[in-house]
Amino acid sequence: MSVTPSFDLASASEKNDIHFGKLVNGLPVPIFTCDKNNILTFYNIAAAELWGYQPRIGEDTWHGRWQLFHPDGKIMQPKDSPVMKALMEAEPQPAELIVKDEDGEVRHLQVYPALIPGAENRMTAACFTLIDISRQKSWEEKQAVLSAIVESSDDAIISKNLDGIITSWNQGAQKIFGYKEDEVLGKHITILIPPSLQAEEERIISNIRAGNKIDHFQTIRLHKDGHEIPISITVSPVKDPSGKITGASKIARDISERIHATRVIEQVAHRLELLYDISKTISEDLDVQAILQKATDATTHLTGAAFGAFFYNTIDEQGEAFMLYTLSGADRSAFEQFGMPRNTAVFHPTFSGLGVVRSDDITKDPRYGKSAPHYGQPQGHLPVVSYLAVPVISVSGEVIGGLFFGHPEPGMFSEEHEDIVSSIAAQAATALDNSRLFEEVKSVSAKKDEFIALASHELKTPLTSIKGYLQILNKTAQDGVGRLFFDKLINQVEKLNSLVTDLFDVSKIEAGKLQFSLEVFNLRQLLQENLETFQYTIQSHRIICEDPGDAIWINADKQRIEQVIVNLVTNAIKYSPQADKIYVNLYAQDGKACLAIKDEGIGLSKEQRQKIFTRFYRAEGTNDIPGLGLGLYLSKEIVDRHEGALTVSSTPGHGSVFLVKLPLAVLPGYRSECDSGLNDG
Ligand code: ADP
Repeated sequence: MSVTPSFDLASASEKNDIHFGKLVNGLPVPIFTCDKNNILTFYNIAAAELWGYQPRIGEDTWHGRWQLFHPDGKIMQPKDSPVMKALMEAEPQPAELIVKDEDGEVRHLQVYPALIPGAENRMTAACFTLIDISRQKSWEEKQAVLSAIVESSDDAIISKNLDGIITSWNQGAQKIFGYKEDEVLGKHITILIPPSLQAEEERIISNIRAGNKIDHFQTIRLHKDGHEIPISITVSPVKDPSGKITGASKIARDISERIHATRVIEQVAHRLELLYDISKTISEDLDVQAILQKATDATTHLTGAAFGAFFYNTIDEQGEAFMLYTLSGADRSAFEQFGMPRNTAVFHPTFSGLGVVRSDDITKDPRYGKSAPHYGQPQGHLPVVSYLAVPVISVSGEVIGGLFFGHPEPGMFSEEHEDIVSSIAAQAATALDNSRLFEEVKSVSAKKDEFIALASHELKTPLTSIKGYLQILNKTAQDGVGRLFFDKLINQVEKLNSLVTDLFDVSKIEAGKLQFSLEVFNLRQLLQENLETFQYTIQSHRIICEDPGDAIWINADKQRIEQVIVNLVTNAIKYSPQADKIYVNLYAQDGKACLAIKDEGIGLSKEQRQKIFTRFYRAEGTNDIPGLGLGLYLSKEIVDRHEGALTVSSTPGHGSVFLVKLPLAVLPGYRSECDSGLNDG
């Protein structure tokens, strides 16, 4: 904007006035004058530039183009403008105001008034100097915001010079370290550093001197009261306007809570892992002693107890109750000399199922303090001060035992420990219940085996006599109907004998008493003899046996192997009532004698195939075919005990193939099964 100076150079009478006018006009500071009636009498170029236009001389000042505001932002009435006030007052003071022009631009101005006295020293005019303080104001505002941020921060924000002397200290620092600002300003930063970590400061300062920032460094600092505070600090160099490093600013955050929370999370995770482990192992085990030991060890560890014990009520073989116990963290001798604790005042509530007992100091507890063994604890007794006892209650509600923990220090057990132990106690109770059930089932099963052994043995004796008498009778010839009945009788006795023999064998297997007498024999010959007998007695099926081939030598119990052959061929016939052929094949392969017996009968489903080798199993739908479900169980046991294998493949409705594999006998001079040169001829 080109501005015409309002100073009337032409009317200047004196040379000095001209010089003065030039000087004022050229000043970079806005200046204007008015008379006592607020009529503008002069302004310089800088004033016109500030206003943004050239007012006419003779107008009112504050010519209405600006909106005026007090420094606090409130609207200023024209009568309160610094000009009007100056004209009213004898000694006008500098004043601050905010102005907003027509374009909305806001400026902070400082107005310096000066009265110009006339005749008789009366005020005739006033001169005003305007200073634009907008930049200073905005800087001040920014500074105020920054200081408010620093002051309200929860983090400690501290500055220090390169000698380590503290130069500023905010509220956060006071909160974290306990010192007030005036207690630390001018002190060395090392008052916050524990003696063992003093060397850290040298490292920090040398990094700062080198212009490096230290980010999130976790360390320990000292509170005013001496306690240690884990903190995370970030230290940055502070530079002066010329870029020279003059000190450091440090932001420190108290991370005690974070560290505590991390520790708690780690602890919980560790506990969960342990609990998972324990529940898995407890539920997988059926051995009482092992369950007790696992539960004791785990709970002692989880509660931080110095020693723990699991007392477990049980019944011995004579039906008498006694107490089994396992210990963790203590030697058995610590308990043995004090007898069983069931009836002491300390243990009684637990064994009566009255709930958890927890005491920070059992020796002072009025309920127990006067009772043995804690009252004047006998010599050699474990030094129990903290005490925790949790009953172990079975599903049926019976108290089956208790978990007890001790520690020589007071106040060691918490509610959380109670919860952990209670949850493990519940799992242990279930596991112990299962173990009891298992023992019961085992004993019932043992009794059943005993009965089978006894019954089959007792049945065998009269059966042998009957067979003997029948053989004698067989010699006295009989004809016609008598002969027919006699044959039927023999046949039935044979069947009965075979059933009783099977039962007897089963009981021997269960008792681990099935004996084998091994001999090397030709399996092919044994097979052929048996097949001939079958073919002779069975009319319903034809047994097709492929090429007789070479002899196949095995070292086995001949009678037992015969039992397997008979059983498999009988089954093939029994379970293929609609068919009329059975296929038998014997061959040697990979050092094994392989005997395959194939039928075209009812077959077996996958589920049935998985069960047929278990005792007393009979596939559904075969009830009208006689049998006890023992033949395959016995056959498999016999083959397995010869280090062989008995397997089945089958298609329901199309038939089955049972395959027996037995190791070939190792014969002197024998080279391979294919060219042994030995045959049964
Ligand atoms: P049993 O024949 O006395 O019932 P096994 O132990 O010999 O007893 O056989 C068990 C069950 O396996 C039989 O009840 C029958 O259901 C099934 N099984 C055995 N052999 C065959 C076969 N060749 N075909 C179909 N099912 C069979």
